[in-house]
Amino acid sequence: MGRYTGPSCRLCRRAGEKLFLKGERCFTPRCAVERRRSTPGNPSRRRRRPSDYGVHLLEKQKAKYIFGVMESQFRRYMDDAFKAPGVTGLNLLRSLERRFDNVVFLLGFADSRKQARQIVLHGHFEINGRRTDIPSYQVSVGDVISWKASDKTTDFYAERTDGIPKRPVPEWLALDQTEMTGRVMTLPADGDLQQGINSRLIVEFYSR
Ligand code: SF4
Repeated sequence: MGRYTGPSCRLCRRAGEKLFLKGERCFTPRCAVERRRSTPGNPSRRRRRPSDYGVHLLEKQKAKYIFGVMESQFRRYMDDAFKAPGVTGLNLLRSLERRFDNVVFLLGFADSRKQARQIVLHGHFEINGRRTDIPSYQVSVGDVISWKASDKTTDFYAERTDGIPKRPVPEWLALDQTEMTGRVMTLPADGDLQQGINSRLIVEFYSR
């Protein structure tokens, strides 16, 4: 199944909560969840109370929507999380958090993860001086994320870096505002992981 290319707001309405997929707009009254609390689709077909399965499925879908990950890739993260030592749910969230596109978003170089994915794919960034255009790349401690040198004279770069940091940068990352680079200081701690996702429900979904 291909990547979802429909409206981001529809995913929030399907999840029944704000997933903050669109940057600035999510914080304005124009947010679709603020304006319409109902789930999308034919009202006569909507279920009032989701089944146990539905609750677990929705939690998994939420994580996929937030990080923009497809099912096959998400399953690989899950398989790795089961194999790794420690708490499976936290292993999963840590892998999602360490995605290169997520780090570009957290550093403030993009307004949303979707935009971060796009600019990574277009080859605007280097990791440790090497061009890297793989959004799923897992960053490691010591990695330095920088803009491609030839970008630095462009309007696009000026627009993307203007006013940075636009939001607090998590402690596991360090932003150099002069050079506009980011460094991975540590692996994300439990408190740095994406809030609002119940990883236990996701683990239970895949343990059925
Ligand atoms: Fe979700 Fe943001 Fe759209 Fe609101 S504006 S529905 S939070 S993507």
